[in-house]
Amino acid sequence: MTFKSLGLSDGILKAIDKKGYTDPSPIQAKAIPTILERKDVLASAQTGTGKTAGFTLPLLQILSEGKPRKHRAVRALILTPTRELAAQVFENVREYSEYTELKSTVIFGGVNANPQIKALNRGVDILVATPGRLLDLHNQKVFQLDQVEMLILDEADRMLDMGFARDIKRIIAQLPQRRQNLLFSATFSKEIKKLANGLLNNPVTVEA
Ligand code: AMP
Repeated sequence: MTFKSLGLSDGILKAIDKKGYTDPSPIQAKAIPTILERKDVLASAQTGTGKTAGFTLPLLQILSEGKPRKHRAVRALILTPTRELAAQVFENVREYSEYTELKSTVIFGGVNANPQIKALNRGVDILVATPGRLLDLHNQKVFQLDQVEMLILDEADRMLDMGFARDIKRIIAQLPQRRQNLLFSATFSKEIKKLANGLLNNPVTVEA
């Protein structure tokens, strides 16, 4: 299997080529076609499997095919448990979207919010965020969540371990009903299954 045969556009393929990847990893080979079919996904994947590209590449493809963003309305939201992971995921999004028209930024707590607010004011298609800072800036009406087409929870087990269950619920309550949901987790506790049951519609399960 090749990245090209998965149905990714030339701009995305160019970015993959620049990264030096030759073939999709197992999780990518399974997740990318499923996500491109607009299905909800429950993915079991550890760090190091290529999971980030597994959700980012199809996300970029879907957003590139869709309607342009309305000013300050985010189209895809990627939630992560920590600022380190948020920064790392954003770096991936930035690299893979280099040859597309899509705009992205990252927000997380523990640092001055002003540069983050400035970036959001310019408008973004893709927002990578930790839950607390996201709610904080959303309450300040810096951006809108009512046009979100795709929600990705990355390392969902760690988010629950860190006590973000209530924040995640508050965030989901701000999103439109009609959207695609992807949940990535390394482990599957009772709590994760409960979160997945409430969030995902007829999910396809994929494993690395
Ligand atoms: P992740 O599991 O998303 O943290 O990715 C782990 C590492 O694998 C990162 O350094 C990626 O750049 C790299 N990677 C992702 N997909 C591929 C691929 N298809 N071929 C080679 N390396 C990859």
